[in-house]
Amino acid sequence: MAKISVIGAAGRVGSTIALCLALSKIADVVVVDNDERKAKGISLDLQQSMFVYGNFTQIISGNYEDTADSDICVIAAGLPRKPGMTRDELLEVNAKIVKEVCEKIARYSPNAIIIVVTNPLDAMCYVAAEASKFPKSRVVGMAGILDTARFKAFIAEELKVDAKGIDAFILGSHDNDMIPIISHAFVNRRPLTEILHEEKIAKIIERTKNAGAEIVVLSGGSALAPATAVSQMVDAILNDRKWILPCSAYVSGENGASGIFIGVPVILGKDGVERIIELKLSEEERKGFEKAADSIKKQIEFLRKDLNK
Ligand code: NAD
Repeated sequence: MAKISVIGAAGRVGSTIALCLALSKIADVVVVDNDERKAKGISLDLQQSMFVYGNFTQIISGNYEDTADSDICVIAAGLPRKPGMTRDELLEVNAKIVKEVCEKIARYSPNAIIIVVTNPLDAMCYVAAEASKFPKSRVVGMAGILDTARFKAFIAEELKVDAKGIDAFILGSHDNDMIPIISHAFVNRRPLTEILHEEKIAKIIERTKNAGAEIVVLSGGSALAPATAVSQMVDAILNDRKWILPCSAYVSGENGASGIFIGVPVILGKDGVERIIELKLSEEERKGFEKAADSIKKQIEFLRKDLNK
């Protein structure tokens, strides 16, 4: 059985990820959190849930020694947004947490693939890669699958169509600079632009950008869709699916960006990010991608003094 460690597993997102992974019977799950008491409670609850259907996936509440030789480490440790906050405001505090977590992951699971969930996502992937010193292909961030799912959900709602017929990608950064790639958006193989009026598309894009904030105000923050997205990434990696998924990955010139993690379509398989797919973008999309890359670069510059400590 494969082994996955979820760090920050006592939190809203981490505990939901742990449940999704345990239910998928894909791996034993190690639950780690600073709040050891809460982590113990979550793991007992999870363990007991496994006995409902007789699924005997092991759930271990533990410390970093228990995570040793994990195949995948998922990082959901860190502060979430409060209503009215931007993800950017979490930059410094979460960078310290992700750095500390990744140094420990590197010590105990030197061959693991790291999936980053903590925000601001793209900068946190960079911090994870620097702190773990892992090959960049073994660090990947979850955001694009979630943002794309939200975009598809709003298109399906507007057009009253089955979500299965919608092809779309959200790339760039996991914030207001995210870019819905309209030039590659199709509904039942017809270009979205032929089916929906420009104004309606603009409204859907705006709602997608604010989808996380909308849930923060309503229920404190999303966890179910993020956890489902992480499950899909884990499935792709452990079963070597080689699915094309929008993820935050390290770019070396793709679509004109380099030296950062940013949302791009990747082939995700047993080795992590096996390849980045370069889409032909429209001029507007290319400019959007450039803007997203610039803001991620600024975040990294801001963090550099902490990273070098
Ligand atoms: P939460 O406060 O419910 O949980 C965070 C957990 O991290 C807590 O249990 C806390 O004890 C733990 N933690 C803090 N420092 C730690 C450390 N050094 N080591 C181990 N554990 C530590 O927050 P949440 O709502 O679960 O959100 C977690 C993170 O996920 C936030 O940064 C949030 O913005 C992010 N998030 C990202 C996406 C995405 O699409 N990438 C979606 C939702 C949430």
